[in-house]
Amino acid sequence: MNKVKERLVVVGGSAGGPSAAAKASRVNPDLEIIMYEQGPFVSYGA
Ligand SMILES: Cc1cc2nc3c(=O)[nH]c(=O)nc-3n(C[C@H](O)[C@H](O)[C@H](O)COP(=O)(O)OP(=O)(O)OC[C@H]3O[C@@H](n4cnc5c(N)ncnc54)[C@H](O)[C@@H]3O)c2cc1C
Repeated sequence: MNKVKERLVVVGGSAGGPSAAAKASRVNPDLEIIMYEQGPFVSYGA
């Protein structure tokens, strides 16, 4: 049987969003992460 892939949807790509996504990715590398940002720029530092 196919395993259902876990998916995390992050809303906001400024400071908190990418930080949360990066942490979640470290905790679970198999996680599929989708990040939405309403503006034209996404933070690259976080
Ligand atoms: C005047 C001012 C000066 C500051 N100066 C500093 C400083 O010098 N140093 C410092 O460390 N901190 C500073 N801060 C604090 C810092 O800006 C915040 O702590 C930090 O930006 C919070 O990050 P956040 O990701 O929680 O929220 P935000 O930075 O507000 O990010 C939220 C993101 O979500 C996006 N978003 C919102 N709704 C949606 C939606 N429906 N769909 C898709 N995207 C969405 C927004 O476009 C935004 O990019 C300052 C804050 C202010 C107001």
